[in-house]
Amino acid sequence: MGAWHAELAWLGPGRGLAERVLVEVEGERIAAVTEGVDPPAGATRLAGLTIPGLANAHSHAFHRALRGRTQRARGDFWSWREQMYRLAAVLDPDRYLELAAATYAEMALAGVTAVGEFHYLHHDPAGRPYADPNRMGEALIEAAGRAGVRLTLIDTCYLRAGLDGQGLAGAQVRFGDGDADAWAERAGALADRPGVRVAAGVHSVRAVDPEAMATVAAWAAGRGAPLHLHLSEQRAENEACLAATGRTPAALAESAGVLGPRTTAVHATHLTGEDVARLGATGTGVCLCPTTERDLADGVGPARALADAGSPLCLGSDSHAVVDLFEEARAVELDERLATERRGHHQPADLLAAATAAGMDALGWDAGRLAPGRLADLVTVGLTSVRLAGTGPADAVDQLVFAATAADVTSVVVGGRQVVQDGHHLLAGDVGAALGRAIAALGVTP
Ligand SMILES: [Zn+2]
Repeated sequence: MGAWHAELAWLGPGRGLAERVLVEVEGERIAAVTEGVDPPAGATRLAGLTIPGLANAHSHAFHRALRGRTQRARGDFWSWREQMYRLAAVLDPDRYLELAAATYAEMALAGVTAVGEFHYLHHDPAGRPYADPNRMGEALIEAAGRAGVRLTLIDTCYLRAGLDGQGLAGAQVRFGDGDADAWAERAGALADRPGVRVAAGVHSVRAVDPEAMATVAAWAAGRGAPLHLHLSEQRAENEACLAATGRTPAALAESAGVLGPRTTAVHATHLTGEDVARLGATGTGVCLCPTTERDLADGVGPARALADAGSPLCLGSDSHAVVDLFEEARAVELDERLATERRGHHQPADLLAAATAAGMDALGWDAGRLAPGRLADLVTVGLTSVRLAGTGPADAVDQLVFAATAADVTSVVVGGRQVVQDGHHLLAGDVGAALGRAIAALGVTP
C-alpha cells in the first residue's frame, strides 16, 4: 500500500477541488481517497495541485524531430507533409526506439501518463515487412516502457495514396499492408500487456476505402478496442471526398460503421452542421490538437458545437510542435475566441477533463479520475513558479488551465509508481540529452 498526500487536488470531472487529500494506492489502483486529513506517517507529500494523469490522445512520436525545422517554412499542410515524409524515410527500428523513448520521456515530464500513438510506420523503407512484421510497433512499446508511460498503440491501416485510388508511393510504401485483411492479421498479432493497449486506426478516408474501413471497425469491435481516425483536418480532403463519393468524410465514415462511442475522430476541423450532429449523435469522441492545427494552418474546429452535440473532447500534441497539454487545453478556448470574437466557450474544469478523463476514455484506460478503483495516475503541479505564484484554492483550476506550462509539473505517478520527482525523470535520466542524441542520429535536416 502506497500513500500520497496532496496539498490540493482536483479529483476529476464533476468532483471539483479538495484540500489535504490522502490517496491510498494498492498495486496500480487507487484504494481510497480521503479529503481534509493531515498526512499520516509514511505518506509522500505532494506540494501544489495534484490532478489525474494527463492523456495525450494523439501522437506521432517521430514528428518530434521536425520541431523547429519545419515551422519557418511557407506553405500549408501538404508542403509540410513532404518534409515529414523525408524524415519518415530514414527511420529504422533502433532509431525509432531511441527517438520515441526520449519523446515519451518528454511527455512524462509534462505530466502525460498515457499516450495514444497513431502508428503507421509499419514496414521497411522499401515496404517490405521486417522479420517481425510488428518490429516498429514493438519499438514503440519498448519506448513507452522506458519512459514509464502507458501506451495505447493505435495500429493504423493505411492502404492508398488518395481518394482517386492511387497506390502508395515513395515514403508511403512502408505504411501499407496491401489490404485490410493483411492489416488485421498483422495488428492481431499484437497483444495487450501491462501498460499497453492495442487499438485500431483508420488513417483517413483518403487512405482507407469504405470496405476496408468496415474491416478495421469490425476488428476493433471484436477486441473491444478504441478506434481512431484523422477526420476533415483539411478542406482539400473534404472536397476530394465529396467529388469521389458524394459524401463528406464524416458521412462516409459513418456509412462504413466507423463512428460510435469507442471511436475518436482526430482534428474534425472542417465540418458541416450535419457532420457535427452525426459525430455527436453517435457519441464519437473528438481529439483536438490545437498547437499542431495552428502550426499547420489547418484552421479552428467547432469545439463548442461538437461538445454541445454530444461528442466528448480530448486533446493531443500530435506533431509535438510543443508537448504541453495545458497549452492544448487553453488553446481550445482561446482559438475559439479568435474565431468567434466571443469569450467563454469552455469552462476551465471542462478543458481539464478533456486533458485527463476524456483522453483516458478515448485511449481505453480506466484512469483520469482520482477515485477508488481507478488507475493511480497522479500529476502534481507546483504553485510557486513565477507563472503560478499567488494561486489559491478558489482559482487553482483556472490558473492551471490558463497559465501553467509543462515545466510546472513536479511529480508524476503512473500506476502507483513515481516516474517524475522534483521535475526529474527517475527512469530516463537526462531527457534533453537523450532527445539530442536521438535526433542527431537521424542525420537529416528535413
Ligand atoms: Zn495525426
